[in-house]
Amino acid sequence: MNTSLKFDDSSITVAVVGCGGFIGSHLLKAILERTRWRVFGVDLDSYRIQEHLSNPRFDFLSADLACPDVVERVARFPIVVNLAAICTPGRYMAEAVEVIRSNYDHPRALADACAKSGSWLIHFSTSEIYGRTAIDSASLEEDSTPIVFGPVSASRWSYATAKLLTERYLAGLADLNWTVVRPFNFVGPYMDFMPGIDGEGIPRVLANFSTALVRGETLKLVNGGVAKRCFTSVHDAIDFIFCLFAHADAGVGQAFNVGNADNEVSVAELACLMRSICASIKDVPEGDVPGVEVVSGEDYYGKGYDDSLRRLPSVAKAESLLGFKAKISLKDALEESLRWFVGHYAL
Ligand code: UDP
Repeated sequence: MNTSLKFDDSSITVAVVGCGGFIGSHLLKAILERTRWRVFGVDLDSYRIQEHLSNPRFDFLSADLACPDVVERVARFPIVVNLAAICTPGRYMAEAVEVIRSNYDHPRALADACAKSGSWLIHFSTSEIYGRTAIDSASLEEDSTPIVFGPVSASRWSYATAKLLTERYLAGLADLNWTVVRPFNFVGPYMDFMPGIDGEGIPRVLANFSTALVRGETLKLVNGGVAKRCFTSVHDAIDFIFCLFAHADAGVGQAFNVGNADNEVSVAELACLMRSICASIKDVPEGDVPGVEVVSGEDYYGKGYDDSLRRLPSVAKAESLLGFKAKISLKDALEESLRWFVGHYAL
């Protein structure tokens, strides 16, 4: 593995699969701004990256990894970041086969091709591989925390099990240079979608609450909103990737939690915070913004819905091996996200 990736080396090209998605669009922008590298980007969607399409250092292919030719083309580049995935919990029950194709079959094909070509594959997995964590569970350690999923028949865990199998496959491929990234609830501009405008179904909680606030509808607290998450700014996530690029030697063959353990909050507390940020953005009393309503998980998502009640990352490994620590506070991350959402959708 090349241990000295220089950001001013204009001979480097990185392939970013899923460059048009939430994380991918931020990563693409950062690579073009902070380095002299070229980017070969693949996605079916390009609306978030319109401003870069004419950049001479960016080559865009509208495609996905279902096509073997695309897999072969991507694996010719020395660094491959794979962000492409179906990753909205609202789809895990009804679309298990598509979820498994996108989170296991496609990355597996890419891993095989990268093992052959010698490329470094940086694969985005999920914090959900830690399974159905309890409300009092300890912080999740990359290499030692045991996994418990819900009922063996529940499609809810289709995503987590597909991601986990991919992780095991990558680690088992003798010739592959791999790094696994496990995101902990990244938030920021362009996260998910607004139902009925640029997507259908139920987005993740931040986009859902933002939609409700923009539309003047109540914020739905699934099963009372007791579950806890560590919401992490996407800008911290991008800084993590740059630390990884800069310390390739320490990052290869490792899985990393990427999250902000200081930003832990329950979903009910998140709703409170977002209502108060919304009131301050609109300059109205908090009583004038929509309230909350408790709904059952099964009524909201469908039969078989199950949840991880706490996702607290251990962040020691990223700090000791790569010198990375997330810095952006919960309030700043949520405020940036909501301001962007209001500006983008409340036309
Ligand atoms: N949730 C909620 N209201 C919503 C959407 C989600 O209470 O409108 C809850 C969900 O049940 C889970 C948490 O928020 O406990 C985070 O869900 P999300 O879909 O953002 O993704 P996850 O972190 O579970 O992958």
